[in-house]
Amino acid sequence: MIPRISSKVASFTESVIREMTREADAHGAVNLSQGLPDFPCPPELKRAVADAVNADLNQYPTTFGEAALREAIAVKTEAAYPGWKVDAETELCVTCGATEAMVATMLALLEPGDEVIMFEPRYENYGPDAIFAGAKPVFVPLHRPEWTIDEAELRAAFTDRTRAIVVNTPHNPTGKVFSAEELALIAELCQRHDVLCFTDEIYEHIHFLGEGGHIPPATVPGLEDRTVTINSLSKTYAVTGWRVGWTIAPAWATKAIRTVHDFLTVGAPTPLQAAGVTAMQLPRGYYTELAEHYRRLRDLLCPALADIGFELRVPDGAYYVLCGTGKFDPAKDDVAFARKLITEIGVATVPGSSFYAEPAKGGDLVRFAFPKREETLRAAIERLGTLG
Ligand code: PLP
Repeated sequence: MIPRISSKVASFTESVIREMTREADAHGAVNLSQGLPDFPCPPELKRAVADAVNADLNQYPTTFGEAALREAIAVKTEAAYPGWKVDAETELCVTCGATEAMVATMLALLEPGDEVIMFEPRYENYGPDAIFAGAKPVFVPLHRPEWTIDEAELRAAFTDRTRAIVVNTPHNPTGKVFSAEELALIAELCQRHDVLCFTDEIYEHIHFLGEGGHIPPATVPGLEDRTVTINSLSKTYAVTGWRVGWTIAPAWATKAIRTVHDFLTVGAPTPLQAAGVTAMQLPRGYYTELAEHYRRLRDLLCPALADIGFELRVPDGAYYVLCGTGKFDPAKDDVAFARKLITEIGVATVPGSSFYAEPAKGGDLVRFAFPKREETLRAAIERLGTLG
């Protein structure tokens, strides 16, 4: 038999981000590539998961999420964003991370031939997610140095075939936080063209703009009834390996997402869902401290990178900084440069091209992730200081 793979899969490669982590491990490099903390999660969460396992909560969950977790997510969301009403019975689906949430959303709500607008640079999963659903990604650039949207370009991207737009705020990899004006423009266009908004907000609590700095698109007038909000425990609670996320969407959309999720995964891990309830009940101060913690890490790494010679815009949110490499890599070969950083300097990053459909657009960029202990960042800075 001649091997044959799906043409959908043949159109892209495995994740470069995850590959960089494997390379970092293989070469003993400081890993500033994949967005995973090297510090522990809150101790109450460790206890909660151990308690759940010991209480024999080890069997299949309710496929679309244990009732206690859905209720806790609804309560926490409503408390964080007054005015937003979330019905845990009909509007929530617990998934295996934001990753599965986005795949399930696209499989549930897109038809082959639909177009999905996404801003670029973008988190690399979104393109393959759309292709799995048979849809066509349409890219709208965020322009350097401030990663701004060009209104005319965004308007022109909406066509009769547009079914959805993907928003990711705070944004990986640029650290951009979408403003009220930008979201109002997106709302206007979604209404005019009858388009859905799929919004990935896993960095909702990691921004440096203070109270009210993050605006969930689902709370923007015009988007309330057409938005699927995607979130997860991964980043807010430093548990990227737990694989628990969720969608919040109108009941009709949730029903379809639950159906896809049911057949795709059966459900997210039961004991970790139980610990998710504890996470949702952490006091408000936890989130203030979280943002402060990441602000300190950002303020340790970014000025040092700028001193070394990287070009950067200090991020307003998320825990990444996307840097221009002009001084070090005139050939604009970001993949070769990232490999050199791993093998010769001992620091792993993510090549900028992995955030673009056309690799050349990111050829002069690398992304550093800073969810790391201060000593990890200091070690990386010292090594990067030897770059000639
Ligand atoms: N969405 C974005 C924007 C991310 O940066 C990441 C991970 O880095 C994910 C989703 C993955 O989230 P999860 O761990 O919940 O699947």
